[in-house]
Amino acid sequence: MNKWNMIIDVEKCEDCNNCFLSCKDEHVDNEFPGYSLAQPRHGHRWINIMRKERGSYPLIDVAYLPVPCQHCDSAPCIENSPKGAVNKREDGIVLIDPVKAKGQKDMVKTCPYGAIYWNEEKNVPQKCSFCAHLLDDEWKITRCAQVCPTLSLTVLCVTDAEMQREVVSEKLEVYHPEYGTKPRVYYKNLYRYTHCFIAGSIAITIDGKEECADNAEIALIKGDEKYIVQTDTFGDFKVDRLEKNSGKYILEVRYKEKSTTMDVVLTESVNVGVIKL
Ligand code: SF4
Repeated sequence: MNKWNMIIDVEKCEDCNNCFLSCKDEHVDNEFPGYSLAQPRHGHRWINIMRKERGSYPLIDVAYLPVPCQHCDSAPCIENSPKGAVNKREDGIVLIDPVKAKGQKDMVKTCPYGAIYWNEEKNVPQKCSFCAHLLDDEWKITRCAQVCPTLSLTVLCVTDAEMQREVVSEKLEVYHPEYGTKPRVYYKNLYRYTHCFIAGSIAITIDGKEECADNAEIALIKGDEKYIVQTDTFGDFKVDRLEKNSGKYILEVRYKEKSTTMDVVLTESVNVGVIKL
């Protein structure tokens, strides 16, 4: 049968917060019997946009990672809460039962993604409901996906086999696969948040003047791994998708008859600065 999935493209998210605000607009002061109680005005972030800065000026970028409930197929919140307090529907959506979950504050701790929030006034844990009340009412889209101007957020109701084909063709990943929770939220370009780069600039001196070395060849070597890139018009280069804390790399630079090497120890993304040949 068809099940719901969400795809989030990290590269397209501009941190405009339309998704967060539309979630508030939909749920604050609005109760949907059988689905969710009203979301409090403050404190809850049913879609939480996390931010990460990489590198340093001028070779720097920022990634935004929207994180709603991942609607896991192996959900720790279901396993570790009183029976029936959290349920997975046949269409993949995970819902907290506001009646059975009443007073169960410890349920907040069961989610490894921090997606469950405590509503002090109503004495219940709450989280993203995938706007199930809208999907059941023929809307076919969540409020957050509907308002995203860059199409960073999309939802898809397909069979698991079709979704796995989408995962392969679009190179989708899940956030924190090591949790083993089988999320139904998939990310594209997740490396922008989870991985690192080594960047820098190459300059050469011609007739006493310093110039940008465009098309210089950069080789980054670590054991059997070798990455080769070229500098752009401004002499800048970037090797991305590296594991953080991955240790020492040898950086080789070749430009016409000139060359140099240097060691770079990678902990987080780094701009090695201007390398002068
Ligand atoms: Fe449960 Fe957290 Fe998974 Fe959502 S992300 S289904 S709250 S464990």
